[in-house]
Amino acid sequence: MVKFKGNSYDFPHFLGCGILANSYFEGVMVKIESHVGQKGIKGMSNVKNIIAIASGKGGVGKSTTAVNIAVALAQQGACTGILDADIYGPSQPVMLGVQGSLDMKNKKDLIPIMRHGVQSMSIGYLIDEKAAMVWRGPMVSMALQQLVFDTQWDNLDYLVIDLPPGTGDIQLTLAQKIPVSGAVIVTTPQDLALLDARRACEMFRKVNVPILGVIENMSSHICSHCSHEESIFGVGGGQRFAKEYGIEFFGAIPLDIAIREQTDSGHPTVIAAPESQHAKRYHDIAQKIKAALALQPKDYSSKFPKIVVET
Ligand code: ADP
Repeated sequence: MVKFKGNSYDFPHFLGCGILANSYFEGVMVKIESHVGQKGIKGMSNVKNIIAIASGKGGVGKSTTAVNIAVALAQQGACTGILDADIYGPSQPVMLGVQGSLDMKNKKDLIPIMRHGVQSMSIGYLIDEKAAMVWRGPMVSMALQQLVFDTQWDNLDYLVIDLPPGTGDIQLTLAQKIPVSGAVIVTTPQDLALLDARRACEMFRKVNVPILGVIENMSSHICSHCSHEESIFGVGGGQRFAKEYGIEFFGAIPLDIAIREQTDSGHPTVIAAPESQHAKRYHDIAQKIKAALALQPKDYSSKFPKIVVET
């Protein structure tokens, strides 16, 4: 029996995940297909598509972007989950506004916590933050695989994986063991962040994970007093980057105190201010990610029956 200790989880937009899967969004039938992961890695029966959100550098707003995209996908009618793959420093519990922890007796109890219409899982729900800090390679790799494969995801169309920055053990495990349908790179426009984003791209290319596109975050600053827009980190870096790698530029999100305040207080912008320009940008990006994914080859492996040859 799983008990959740902490604040009660809410369903502000949905009766429950799964109910709106394959249903209608703005009058359009939503039917989401599964797309292939890396060669030799079997797809998951309860997750159709895994989307990895990555950045080369920390602090570029990858987790903020990941949670807003995941909630936007759910708001658009897809059954969506988010997995916080940052074992050393999980931030999704705070960004989703989940306090407390899962009461785990065995692995069947790894039930995702429903929040803002999204099924979520994070190491932060399971152990004290400091406990994982001493873990090294194999333990981190095992922890990530358990979070992905043992969590009782309920029929997901999309599982958004919020990766930690860089190209370390967690990224390697993701590349070698987890069927990723596509990766999305988040960067800020300045050269330093783009340099690191290039490393992330090279890594995904090497392991044959398709890079769906790039999101430029903190692209310009909007003054909260006069609404003046200023490009603190430079202009057009994300577009240049997308061109260089031949990938899609999904769009730009400005640096705005409202995004920080909303997301850091557990109410991502698409929940806190669904009618705002920023929420519209997140929704637009989520649509583009879905469209880019839809162009990838489809995966029918989970639909094949298991054939047993008896002699
Ligand atoms: P990362 O995952 O890349 O390390 P985070 O998503 O944790 O970065 O963001 C770092 C900080 O920047 C957080 O406090 C977050 O609220 C803030 N932040 C992210 N994106 C924006 C934005 N577009 N405007 C304002 N603040 C942002």
